[in-house]
Amino acid sequence: MPELPEMENYKIHLNNKITGQTITAVDVNRIKSINVNPNLFKKTVSNQKVLNVSRRGKHLLFHLQNGQVLLLHLMLGGWMYFGQETDKPKRTIQVRLSFGHEHLYFIGLRLGYLHLHTPQDAEKKLSHLGPEPLDPSFSENEFMDRLKTKHGRLKTALIDQDFIAGIGNCYSAEICFHAKILPIKDIDELNNAAKSQLYQSMKTVLSEGIRLGGYMENPFFKEDKKTGGFHKHCQVYDREGQTCQRCGAVIVKEMISSRKTYYCLNCQK
Ligand SMILES: [Zn+2]
Repeated sequence: MPELPEMENYKIHLNNKITGQTITAVDVNRIKSINVNPNLFKKTVSNQKVLNVSRRGKHLLFHLQNGQVLLLHLMLGGWMYFGQETDKPKRTIQVRLSFGHEHLYFIGLRLGYLHLHTPQDAEKKLSHLGPEPLDPSFSENEFMDRLKTKHGRLKTALIDQDFIAGIGNCYSAEICFHAKILPIKDIDELNNAAKSQLYQSMKTVLSEGIRLGGYMENPFFKEDKKTGGFHKHCQVYDREGQTCQRCGAVIVKEMISSRKTYYCLNCQK
């Protein structure tokens, strides 16, 4: 599932491609992917300029000229492609927004969605989310204070969107590896030095993820060489049975609350 760096990567590319552009046509092939009557959806979204695209946690918000917002969550398996009809991936398209002869394709939206909201409703939908981990105003002290209210496994807290927004299976594993802390550790067992390191590692790993274009394998457009660049930099995520590049031990996978959790038993404590 795309996480903060993947959605930030999409956001950057989308702002390059469609900010200031007008949506010339709307196609909805899967009614379940939207939240209103398809005709109303098309009528409201068509002929609107995209003012900009912003991100909150794992969501993207497309701000339209008429004040309405398209709220996107890709969930598991969802992705996007931008290009001409001839470059279109050979996959089922759930929703297509056209910008003249170029199109934004929404693919793999099963649990994912593209919902139309007023700005107030969109804000309400996102109000439960915890702070943005890369927001400069999210201080180490605030992180520490929030951790004090959490108990149980560290991994479970890191992927709790109400605790901190945007982190999922991949980056929780990578952050814990970077911090040399076991994700299966109980939060109450972490000392202040470990918590401080976690905060630093969170900033470092997520920033690196964005810089390298996230880990999603599908390019966003034809000449896109950036998207997915983080995948080969993953140290533990999806590397079960492979060698730890830091200590040479074998990376293990464990299910925690039915989530795949990867770590090195040797150099993470
Ligand atoms: Zn190791």
